[in-house]
Amino acid sequence: MYRKFILLIIIVIFLTSLSFAQTINTDQQGDQLLAEVRTILAPMGIIVNRNFPVFVRPYDDIQRQNIAKGGLSMEVAGFYKPYGGEAIWMMAGLPKYRAISTLAHEYTHAWQTDNCPLQDRMLSEGFATWVEYKVLTKMGYTTAANQLFSGSNADYSQGLKIFYNIEQKQGTQAAIDYAKTAKKP
Ligand SMILES: [Zn+2]
Repeated sequence: MYRKFILLIIIVIFLTSLSFAQTINTDQQGDQLLAEVRTILAPMGIIVNRNFPVFVRPYDDIQRQNIAKGGLSMEVAGFYKPYGGEAIWMMAGLPKYRAISTLAHEYTHAWQTDNCPLQDRMLSEGFATWVEYKVLTKMGYTTAANQLFSGSNADYSQGLKIFYNIEQKQGTQAAIDYAKTAKKP
């Protein structure tokens, strides 16, 4: 009787710890995951030669801060803040694959500020989404990667297709080169 009870408690504790392990909730987890993302992107030449922190904060804080820094009034999982304390801000509680997606996307925006001319939203969001796609694929999250093509915001999903098609025809480097040189239409 007691044995079964103790076993049940152990199982509950185990499952609870498992579910916490699968979501990203602290700055430290965010920093560690960004380090992983940086490692995956470095061989592609997508490198930002400085460190900045990841702030993992509640959903409401992220929306408020995003609007305050001049972002569009759309719901975001995270954003990159280039000045006044360079950082990536990301909402707490994301499953690991969504946190990876968000960090890859926002880190790419940091890279774009150093390497790309002024571009329209479809080019800048499209490239950041393509990088998300690359990182998710490399880490084995294929389903999540493919879902990026059917996102409701065309700047992201159609923009992704621009870079995906270039890569299919001319290779990965050509897609990156296009991001570096394409001017705002
Ligand atoms: Zn973006």
